[in-house]
Formats: sequence, structure tokens, C-alpha cells
Amino acid sequence: MHRVHIRTYGCQMNERDSEGVAALLRAKGYVVQDDEAGADIVLVNTCSIRGLAEEKAIGKADHLLRARREGRGPRLVGILGCMAQNRGAELLDRLPDLDLVVGTQRLRHIPDHLGRLLADPAPARRIDLAEEAGFEDALPGRADGRQVAAFVSIQQGCDMRCAYCVVPRTRGPERSRPPESILAEIRALAAAGTREVTLLGQIVNQYGRGSQRAEGGLSPFVRLLRQVAAIPGIDRIRYTACHPIGYRADLVAAHADIPELCAHVHLPFQSGSDRILRAMRRPYLAERIRRLAASLRAARPGLTLSTDVIVGFPGETDADFAQTESLFRELGFEHGFLFKYSPRPGTPGHALGDPVPAPDKERRLARLQELLALRSSTENLRQIGTTQSVLVEGPDRRGGRLMGRTENERRVILDGPSSLIGHIIPVHVTAAGQTYLEGKPA
Ligand code: SF4
Repeated sequence: MHRVHIRTYGCQMNERDSEGVAALLRAKGYVVQDDEAGADIVLVNTCSIRGLAEEKAIGKADHLLRARREGRGPRLVGILGCMAQNRGAELLDRLPDLDLVVGTQRLRHIPDHLGRLLADPAPARRIDLAEEAGFEDALPGRADGRQVAAFVSIQQGCDMRCAYCVVPRTRGPERSRPPESILAEIRALAAAGTREVTLLGQIVNQYGRGSQRAEGGLSPFVRLLRQVAAIPGIDRIRYTACHPIGYRADLVAAHADIPELCAHVHLPFQSGSDRILRAMRRPYLAERIRRLAASLRAARPGLTLSTDVIVGFPGETDADFAQTESLFRELGFEHGFLFKYSPRPGTPGHALGDPVPAPDKERRLARLQELLALRSSTENLRQIGTTQSVLVEGPDRRGGRLMGRTENERRVILDGPSSLIGHIIPVHVTAAGQTYLEGKPA
């Protein structure tokens, strides 16, 4: 019996892919374990979004391979996912004794690859980066009753060509899963005890574009949201990652009409300068973000927003950044993924180089981080004394207590029996920090 550990870097899509690979391996008799210690196979599922993410994963694989050379590492080491797709055979120059490299469209073949590697006493390295029709619907879900809140992939790839983004290269063109397959997965999750699903895609609110039609004034994505909301047992729905251009009137209205849709939206605006948005190839103006935030908040009072921002894109001046800062402050984002630009090979922006001086980028990033910390602390403190509806997801990482989330995606640490896990309960908030609330069942 072989023991496998999957180390996952990057976004929720990668987490979902790792869960799918784990489900396939379990079905073939492998033991998939959370800890690396004692595993005889380690698979590193990677992210290519920034150079640093790639270097972290390479460092991890290098460490494992070095341990193996010293007679104490795993028997097989593989690299999967976005970096495998992006760097391919070049990875073997950095890691010559790597056993397996599998790209984003071929993950379902991992059990076959491992089987062959284990059967051969002197196995040859295996590289599998092929394109495969239907891969977006190929990995099984994990309806094993262990997930109160589950990720469900509904769409993969992206046809946009944002100047900074490597995703179209690593994940290929936009493809949506058929609705029946998605709904069957969610019904199975609900039957096993899942209460909340997060629908995942690279550009999730364009779900069905090119393969399904709008009907009755509703886009395929909004129709899917309604169908998911109708599944007994599913009390909460979230979705990510979305694009501002995917918000048409029906999706904004869905936030008023579908009570299961959580009162939180991730609205990645990237820059508040129209000039920089154009350079980034983002097809909207800052004013569109303002209007969209206002419409969403009008549709769902109490809705909170998070965002993604990149500072230091080539050509960004202090005046451009001032517009970003102003929009960021004005819209009151409570969470954010804030990054300094770094050029990525294979992206449309790579040829622009990296002309914004590092200290300018540092200063701009620090300013946004400061604003974000202030805003989230202030909003969390305002929750003290209120009663929040909390889905209890499981034990808190530090042990001894429980962890749940409000509809606004605020993390809540609470005391209570484990029988509360899987239930939505009222929680009286007694304390708050910058990234969490504390409370007790009301
Ligand atoms: S829409 Fe999102 S995933 Fe697609 S290229 Fe732009 S940033 Fe990347």
C-alpha cells in the first residue's frame, strides 16, 4: 500500500484539483495523507502566477529529491499543475532526478503514471503536458462527508489576455463543465453533509460562454446559481474568481433574489487608473467598478467586497497609483490580494520589462496594505456585540476551539461542542482582531 502526500501551492482551483487527484488515487487503493512524513510518493501541485510561487515549489521538490539522494526521502517525486504546464521539460534542467511532470489537462492520468513508475524497477521519468478535450469535467469531487464547505470547479481556462497573467497559458482556453455534471457533484456533496459550495473558475461569472445560451434573460451562470440554490441542504453559495465584465444586470439582481448567495463579492479591479487598465488589457474603466460596487451593495445591503490589485505595472506613475489608492479607499474593501508587479514569461506584458523602481512598488504596496489593515480591523471591531449567522466548518487550526465563517466571509473562532460542526448558528461576537472575530453561540 503506497502512501501519497500532495503539497498544494496557489489558488482554490489548485486545491480543488488536488482533492480530485486524491479522490482518484484513493479509488485505486493509495493512502492519501495530510503529512509529508512517511509518504513514499510526494506530488507538488504548483502555481505559476508569480516567479516567487514557482521558486517555492521548485525549492520544495529540490529538498525532497536531495533527501532521497541521502536515502531518507520519498520514492517518487512529481510536479503537477500550472508550473508543470508553463515550464514543462525545462523543469528537468533544474531537477534532473524528478520522476513525474503532469500538466493541468492531464491530472486524471496520474494514477496510471504512478502505477507504471512503481511497476518499473528502473523507471524512466514521465512528462505529460498534452491537451485533452473534456479535462474540465474529468476530476471527481470529494463527497466524503468531511467538507462542510466545498470547492466545486465549474469552468477552467481563460480567453482574456490580461497583460500580466499567465493563466491562459497554463490553463488553456475557457471551457465550462455541463450543468448536469456540476449539479450531480453538488447533490452528492449536499447528501454527504456539505452546506456551502464555492463555485470556481478562472473567469467564473462568464460560465457557459460559447457553449450555452442565455434563456429568459438569464445568463448560464445565473441559471446555474438558481439550480444550485434549489438543491436541498445547500444553504450558502459563493463564487470566485470573477471579472468585472461578467457582471450584467441578471447577476447583480441574483444577489437580491437568491438568499443562498453570500453577502460577499470578490471584485478584482487591479488598478484605479484608466490608462493603466488599458495597458493591462483590462476592458473596463475605474468608473465601471464604482457603479458595480454601488449596484451590488444596493442589491444586497450589508454586502462586503474584496479585490485584487497589482501595483507597479509598467508605466504606473505616482499619479496613477493615487487613483488606485483613492478607489481602494472609497470602495472600502475588507480583504484583498495585493501584489507588486513582476513580469512573467509568456504573458503579453513580458516585453514591457519591469521599469517601475522596486522602492516605488514597495511604498505603494505598503500603503494599500496599511489601508486594508485599517479597514478590516475597523469593520471587525464594529461587529463586537452583534449576533452573526455562522457556518461552523470544523476545529480551529490551533486546536481546542471551533472555526466558522459569517456570510461576509469573516472568520469566527468560537467555543462550543464539535456537534455544532456543519450547522449554521447564531454567534454573539465578543472580540475581534484584524483577520478574525471571536464569539460564543448565542
Ligand atoms: S481574466 Fe483573469 S485569468 Fe483571465 S487573463 Fe485576465 S487575470 Fe488572467
